[in-house]
Amino acid sequence: MSEEKGEYRGKATMEKITSLAKRRGFVFQSSEIYGGQNGAWDYGPLGVELKNRIARAWWKEMTQLHDDIAGLDAAILMHPRTWEASGHVENFTDPLVDCKKCKTRFRADQIPPENLAQKKCPECGGELTDTRKFNLMFKTHIGPAEDSAGAIYLRPETAQGIYVNYRNIVQSNRMKIPFGIAQIGKAFRNEIVTKNFIFRTCEFEQMEMQYFVKPGDDVKWFDEWKKRRWAYYEKLGVKMDSLRWHRHGPDELAHYAKDAYDIEYLFPMGWRELEGIHNRSDYDLSRHAEYSGKDLKYIDQDNNERYIPFIIETSAGLTRTLLMILCDAYDEELVPNEKNPGGSEGSAGSADDWRTVLRFHPDLAPVTAAVLPLMKKDGLAELAEDIRAELKEDFTTGYDQAGAIGRRYRRQDEAGTPFCVTIDYQTKEDGTVTLRFRDSMEQVRVPRAELIERIRREIKQYKRG
Ligand code: ATP
Repeated sequence: MSEEKGEYRGKATMEKITSLAKRRGFVFQSSEIYGGQNGAWDYGPLGVELKNRIARAWWKEMTQLHDDIAGLDAAILMHPRTWEASGHVENFTDPLVDCKKCKTRFRADQIPPENLAQKKCPECGGELTDTRKFNLMFKTHIGPAEDSAGAIYLRPETAQGIYVNYRNIVQSNRMKIPFGIAQIGKAFRNEIVTKNFIFRTCEFEQMEMQYFVKPGDDVKWFDEWKKRRWAYYEKLGVKMDSLRWHRHGPDELAHYAKDAYDIEYLFPMGWRELEGIHNRSDYDLSRHAEYSGKDLKYIDQDNNERYIPFIIETSAGLTRTLLMILCDAYDEELVPNEKNPGGSEGSAGSADDWRTVLRFHPDLAPVTAAVLPLMKKDGLAELAEDIRAELKEDFTTGYDQAGAIGRRYRRQDEAGTPFCVTIDYQTKEDGTVTLRFRDSMEQVRVPRAELIERIRREIKQYKRG
């Protein structure tokens, strides 16, 4: 790896990502002052912006750009029969073993087979319990009595909310097959091992789209959705050589699946699933028809046919995508010390400098433009506030007037802000500002009146270098 000026590509590690996420207010441990809650995380000021933007980009892709996909926001609490019909009560389990000595809990399929065979703890050598099945659904009670009649689950996936509304949406929106239903929402799983930061958590968010097709057309649509989902990540500016396909072998296929592919991302800890694309056959609607006693056949009036549709599912984790975007955007490089061409500040030494930069697509960046007055004095701060007020209606803005300009650029780089707008003495004279680009660190002077249009154009034309 070269450490020549500007060429070094620093590697993201989970430690660096976790620490940056906390330092800059992307992600905090849940209830940290009490020692933290396993499997739960809080999204801070920059994190919630990033998460909302990732969700918005997905929603736009699925609904705004596809006339044949309708949106939905179903409740987390569903009728308990849902989970019997879906197969979750019976099948949504992990094999679990505990160490009697050190009390560590393991997923039996994630420890070396010889340890399992000898019942020997891989951590301390103590004796392991028998393997037992552990259901990942969170169970709670609705109503005042804690009896089994009031038992209810926190949904472990958003998909079932779509299936139980399939008939409502066909009827209310006169949807014709093929069509899809998209939903973003929370899901809960009692995961045994929750390491790697927000990769696998007990509370998380999913972005799922279920596409209803005529039986026989499923293979064609499955291929089509695989192509579309791949192209989507390209559009988001993700490093495409960090993505790959993984096809589920016969042992991996879920009980409902006819065929399944994962899009995997090369996270710092290795290749891991980011999104699943599944051919779920007619399993879901057939089961809900059986368990609810309702007729869920689609009536194709044009061709005088009735059938239970097949379902092609695209299922991505929103919070897991956020981790992917953080890792993908992360970069470290050795760059020349930056100054503002119009100003005198920042000239203290011209030594090279390391910078950490998050190369978010500008559509995803939590702050689009940061406004920086070169000096607080001589009316520059007031002028900067004034320009910021103009930008606010169109963009999320930041403001920073503390310290040398070069250091302020570094702070914005680390937050992933694609554009800095610097106000200096020339601004007072001729009404131009310095527009500084995060990725190239290039600076151009732009008349104040053209600033909004220019930023808008730069966002639309953005290509990751
Ligand atoms: P795994 O086998 O890794 O437990 P899965 O195959 O059961 O995951 P799916 O049920 O297909 O996962 O869920 C679809 C998507 O939801 C996953 O690709 C992932 O992005 C996200 N997801 C699933 N479980 C979690 C979790 N515990 N924490 C965060 N995201 C999750």
